[in-house]
Amino acid sequence: MASDQLVEVRHLKQYFPVSGDGFFSRNWVKAVDDVSFSIPRGSTLGLVGESGCGKTTTGRTLLRLYEPTSGRIVYDGETIFDSGDVPLYDERGSVVTDKEGKPKYGKKTKVSMLPYRRKMQIIFQDPYASLDPRMTIGDIVGEAIDIHHLASSQEERREKIIRMLERVGLNSEHANRYPHEFSGGQRQRVGIARALAVDPEFIVCDEPISALDVSIQAQVINMLEDLQGEFGLTYLFIAHDLSVVKHISKRIGVMYLGKLVEMGDSNEITFHSCHPYTKSLISAIPIADPETSRNTHRIVLQGDIPSPVNPPSGCRFRTRCPYAEKCCAEREPEWKEVGPGHFCACHFADRFR
Ligand code: SF4
Repeated sequence: MASDQLVEVRHLKQYFPVSGDGFFSRNWVKAVDDVSFSIPRGSTLGLVGESGCGKTTTGRTLLRLYEPTSGRIVYDGETIFDSGDVPLYDERGSVVTDKEGKPKYGKKTKVSMLPYRRKMQIIFQDPYASLDPRMTIGDIVGEAIDIHHLASSQEERREKIIRMLERVGLNSEHANRYPHEFSGGQRQRVGIARALAVDPEFIVCDEPISALDVSIQAQVINMLEDLQGEFGLTYLFIAHDLSVVKHISKRIGVMYLGKLVEMGDSNEITFHSCHPYTKSLISAIPIADPETSRNTHRIVLQGDIPSPVNPPSGCRFRTRCPYAEKCCAEREPEWKEVGPGHFCACHFADRFR
């Protein structure tokens, strides 16, 4: 039976090894550290945070372009990865227990991604690096069609390529040209056409507009929204700019140093956030009205994001949080529901709401 949630991620971890202090010692970059979320079919989850917070790694691990360290990934009701040490949850999000009240765990699973590669696509951040400069635009889009055997003849292949190019605002003449002949915005359209050519259901949009001129960012966002309506697509939309994410996302997750710190409906996060980090991101959004802008308190974070090899104890945000107290260094804040569907990991979430 088809689930309402197209994508479900539970306790996902992605650690990368790095050499330690000694010859034999090894440390780990905890790029994604216990992240859980789900995305209903046909909707968009925005994932936002500074560079290096783990949002891109989350998207790639979810697609299993990186093999997860642990956690569970369920796609369309099918478990595509389970490390076997993650509790099972019911539809309301409660842990499933046995007769003695002990949590039940999922079965260790690692399926082949071949049947899922077509359904789960990615649009990359850099439209300059993500297209092979030796291939024509037609072949770049056609390659995906070939890999998944989606055209039974050259004629059908060509028709499909042209249909996709036209759908993203290009035309048949563009098919014989090379990537260097296009602007950044046009290249990103090619990247979108390539992802669409295989009839996907789910697309990880990995900072798809951050390398583009501001003038064309809105065009690409509008196009992604139109395509979502037309093809019933589900997006994980990754960006470092909250003002971009809030336009396209139904729900928003805010990441800091490998962890989700807040998640909720787009309006709730924008107007009633209760995590100091989210508040700092919101206060950085430029306001057009000078009067409103003058009366808005800007929260400027001090220092850089700490190393994910050795994150701060307790709350990971405490070294930059203007409201940190003693307990913030001692205990990791609980991920708790502060309003319907609104979750936050801060000891003082109620105070900031
Ligand atoms: Fe700041 Fe403490 Fe809340 Fe962390 S738990 S965000 S350090 S107030």
